[in-house]
Amino acid sequence: MNRRQTIPPQQKYTTKQFQAEFPNDSACLEYMMQKRWPGGIALCAECGVERKHYRVTGRTCYACPVCGSHIFPLAGTIFHKSTTPLTTWFYVIKLMSTTRVGVSAKQIQRETGVTYKTAWRMMKQVRILMAEKIKLIGPVEMDEGYFGGIESNKHSHLRGRAAKTTVLGIVERKGRVIAKVIPDAKKDSILPVVRESLHPKAMIYTDGAAVFEQLRWMGQSHKHKAVNHAAGVYVDDFAHTNSIEGFWSLVKRGIQGVYYQVGPEYLQSYLNEYAFRYNRRKVMRPMFTQLLERTPMQICPSVRETRALTAGR
Ligand SMILES: [Zn+2]
Repeated sequence: MNRRQTIPPQQKYTTKQFQAEFPNDSACLEYMMQKRWPGGIALCAECGVERKHYRVTGRTCYACPVCGSHIFPLAGTIFHKSTTPLTTWFYVIKLMSTTRVGVSAKQIQRETGVTYKTAWRMMKQVRILMAEKIKLIGPVEMDEGYFGGIESNKHSHLRGRAAKTTVLGIVERKGRVIAKVIPDAKKDSILPVVRESLHPKAMIYTDGAAVFEQLRWMGQSHKHKAVNHAAGVYVDDFAHTNSIEGFWSLVKRGIQGVYYQVGPEYLQSYLNEYAFRYNRRKVMRPMFTQLLERTPMQICPSVRETRALTAGR
């Protein structure tokens, strides 16, 4: 397998760079402020005028210079209402974006001094940023994987299916991947994922599982070619499933080496994490920057909405 061992210079982001860019919580807060309101210029809801807002000392907000009303750069983000310092959050994002096989809550606890429970919760929040909706174009490889237990990720005909979670993986050759937890490997579970995440005319390569054969009879315009593993034919010119198997082995090594066992309810978020890094492995900007740029994303109600909700009660 062609596995890249070194990180290209454009993708590197060293601890030294991190410390220079984010030396304290104020620097992190200012980053969030600039991302949400470039130049610090925001519409003041009270005055109805756009103005440059100024940092309020000792608080995570900025104020309008005329009426003094506040805006909150962290509102609605994963940092909302957290008592953990922003520098610690940013450092966790750095760890999770620069690892190849994954980082454990234990390691974050050791390196940052937060409790194990806090580390675990922070990682869960960061994984929310890593979830994404993409549409793949062909040719793709499609395969099902089975996770849970030590023998995770083996093909169904090799291992017992009981107590394992089924995952459908679709990957572009030399491109992006999607991995979705599905109830079972039947066509009714597979088809919605295919419809949602694959270009309707994409060529699909599979390892010949019967269910994929059925896709052809479900009104799909996909072309399909199966690889006959049983006959020992693994690479038939273009008809191979090496890419998806490479992705499975990456996730498998991570889950077994770092996460040990993942409950089925959390598996999707772990898959999102691996897919996020995999899908950006060729982008020539540091993975940390790419992930950090998603932090201004609104994932929970903003302060204003929260206030309105509580006031209404
Ligand atoms: Zn104002």
